[in-house]
Amino acid sequence: MVWVWSVRRNSRLIRELADTHARYTAALHQQQATGELFRTLFDAAPECVKLQDAEGRIERINAAGLALLETSQPSRVVGESVFNIIAPEYHEAYRQLTADVFSGCSRFMEFELTTFRGRRRWLETHAAPLRGEQGQIVGLMAVTRDIDERRYMTQQLEEQRNRLHTVIESEPECVKLHDHEGKILEMNPAGLALLNAQNPEQVIGRSVYEFLDADYREAYRQLTEDVFNGERRSMEFEVKTIDGEHRWLETHAAPLLDSNSQVSALLAITRDIDQRKHTEEKLRRQRNELAHVCRLSTLGELASGLAHELNQPLCALSSYAETARALQHQGDPANRQRIDQILLKIVHETERAHGIIQRLREYVRKRTPQPRPHAVPHLIDGVLDIIEPERRQQHIHIDLVIQDGLPPVLVDRVQTEQVLLNLINNALQASVSSTARPDKLELSVSFHNDAVCIALRDFADGIPEDLRSQLFTPFFTTKRDGIGMGLALSRSIAESYGGQLVYEPANPGSIFRLLLPTGKPGP
Ligand code: ADP
Repeated sequence: MVWVWSVRRNSRLIRELADTHARYTAALHQQQATGELFRTLFDAAPECVKLQDAEGRIERINAAGLALLETSQPSRVVGESVFNIIAPEYHEAYRQLTADVFSGCSRFMEFELTTFRGRRRWLETHAAPLRGEQGQIVGLMAVTRDIDERRYMTQQLEEQRNRLHTVIESEPECVKLHDHEGKILEMNPAGLALLNAQNPEQVIGRSVYEFLDADYREAYRQLTEDVFNGERRSMEFEVKTIDGEHRWLETHAAPLLDSNSQVSALLAITRDIDQRKHTEEKLRRQRNELAHVCRLSTLGELASGLAHELNQPLCALSSYAETARALQHQGDPANRQRIDQILLKIVHETERAHGIIQRLREYVRKRTPQPRPHAVPHLIDGVLDIIEPERRQQHIHIDLVIQDGLPPVLVDRVQTEQVLLNLINNALQASVSSTARPDKLELSVSFHNDAVCIALRDFADGIPEDLRSQLFTPFFTTKRDGIGMGLALSRSIAESYGGQLVYEPANPGSIFRLLLPTGKPGP
């Protein structure tokens, strides 16, 4: 009553007290509301939220936390120490975390615990200090989540990565990664050994083009472009090792995709093919030697006919010269025009003889084959010139049919002439020794599937069925003085250009088809 009375006496004081009271009540309500909100959030949070003291005693934990620990009874957790459930090997680190939080810092850690059902579980916790009204630290509040699955995936990923790393490291072939510009990003020990490098620093970060022989750089750039467009490519090339040694390599390259399916690098497996290349080179040399010997042998067979062929222009030359001399001795100026004509014929016959000798010289010369574009009719003319005396002597006619507009073939001229000469010579011999004594051969040239096909048909007795499988085997011959290398060598020459030589029985006779690559579309 006294208070009411005195209040009534001082309205200013009344207003002040009323204000204070209103503020006090609002603050109280706000605090209550905040406390309520905090409790609701705490309990309903989908992740484990717990409150603990500086010794590690759990003061409060929400339903998600209990679920994490696989219990429905808060009494098994509240009031108990966190160290009862955290795996012993993490105690030290957790104690440190608690101390840090109670000194005002927020902390994060991953650890394992054992649930009330005895299951080990990986958790990650974010802990922060909880402060009282005066800002003093009154507890540690932690939000904790189960990272078992994530840990498992990470572990699996790590194991996979380690396994892959071990496989790549112990892979006997070179495995390397490089970017679009050719900068080497990774290379395994086998790759380093291939470049005679002592350590990765000598190679990683450098450009593949520093090692590639200049002749192959353009093609390798194209390969890289194709791989970065998603293709798989392979190629053979020469490199220069760190210490300047030349080495032949073969590489198989594929795109390496990132998680967005974009090509992030070129992945290549490369092997040393130096040995193979040297063996191939040796075989090529041996085949050239053999081809040379066979050319000499074929010419030996054709020698008498060729001598006769040469004799003709020589005889003509001598008779022309005699006539010219006689005309000149007559001293008649009217003879001058005739003498001029005879001299012209002499020049012509000399050129003919020279042409034959030239062709023969080239044919027997030892040489390295050089594939170049050649017109097929020209190749055939050259062969028909050489075989002409033999053909004439045997009275055999050659029907020649050549398709118009043929593209040139990419071959070595002498070697291809050798193949054709061998086929025609065989066909002539088969015709001569045939009881039916056919008097013609058919030679046709056409274009199919990017290749020029030269087909030679004879009308002799053909090849007995049981001998056909041996036709292209070295030293197979049915001739008394045959060597049996002609067809074997001819096939190997055709295949060395990416061509083919095949036999087909005909009735009567045989057909040999020689397919030669053009590299160009036909008519
Ligand atoms: P060679 O002529 O030294 O025997 P080739 O390799 O050229 O060696 O020929 C092998 C064999 O193939 C010949 O001995 C012959 O039996 C057979 N042959 C080749 N061409 C024909 C052909 N056009 N007709 C019949 N047999 C052939």
